[in-house]
Amino acid sequence: RTVYVNGEYLPETEATVSIFDRGFLMADGVYEVTTVLDGKLIDFDGHAKRLSRSLNELEMKEPCTQDELLEIHRKLVEANNVTEGLVYLQVTRGAADRDFAYPKDAEPTLVLFTQEKVLAQSPVAKTGISVISIPDIRWGRRDIKTVQLLYPSMGKMAAKAAGADDAWMVEDGSVTEGTSNNAYIVKDGVIITRNLSNDILHGITRAAVLRFAQEAQMQVEERPFTIEEAKAADEAFVTSATTFVMPVVKIDDAAIGTGEVGPIASRLREIYIEESRKAAL
Ligand code: PLP
Repeated sequence: RTVYVNGEYLPETEATVSIFDRGFLMADGVYEVTTVLDGKLIDFDGHAKRLSRSLNELEMKEPCTQDELLEIHRKLVEANNVTEGLVYLQVTRGAADRDFAYPKDAEPTLVLFTQEKVLAQSPVAKTGISVISIPDIRWGRRDIKTVQLLYPSMGKMAAKAAGADDAWMVEDGSVTEGTSNNAYIVKDGVIITRNLSNDILHGITRAAVLRFAQEAQMQVEERPFTIEEAKAADEAFVTSATTFVMPVVKIDDAAIGTGEVGPIASRLREIYIEESRKAAL
């Protein structure tokens, strides 16, 4: 594979980052994952804007312009012949003497690579996934897309150990989000998902799905919901750039609705894939 590191396109075996990089030493970095469908980028603008916001919140320099970022994404997709999969992008504050205070002169490190993956025809979407609930003990700025992913990683492992596919995190009785996705329930035809705040990541897929739902005259309520409400819901699902709309059919020991993929989740998945394909660049 060809990867990108700080202005250079290189074979992955030749790409290096300093051991003094603050991304490595302090998880002082942010990232984005942009989906590739039919060799084109989905929601690039949304991801680029969220990246700028994350960088700004952490007082980190922009490594390049949005146009340059788009060009790097496109070059990598082309160089690696990706028709379906993702582009991963990471910016860290860069290499500096180890110090808790942000260094003034560090140049940000920018790394991108691609990964091929079957997305639209994912067989899991037909049967749905199961999740377990775990306490949300992440830091209080989950709206910043940082690379501090150890707890979500532990949550995913706890899910696997319990024979489930993912974990929904719960704080003060309410569901925040999945380990790497936003969480939704459907009750009496109403789609319910937690409102935006510092408590959750502002999903790019979430924004698109809510827009498509409203355009299709579906009812949407943005508010916290409890884990008990979720277990008693008619349907549940999650969204993220690479899973689109993924039905959830079981939460802990409770089957959701009929225990099979529900009509609203499957309809939204179809609409999302169709509309995203049309708008891809
Ligand atoms: N929530 C969390 C914690 C995430 O890590 C992600 C994506 O990685 C999402 C939500 C979904 O965001 P997006 O739709 O922008 O991929």
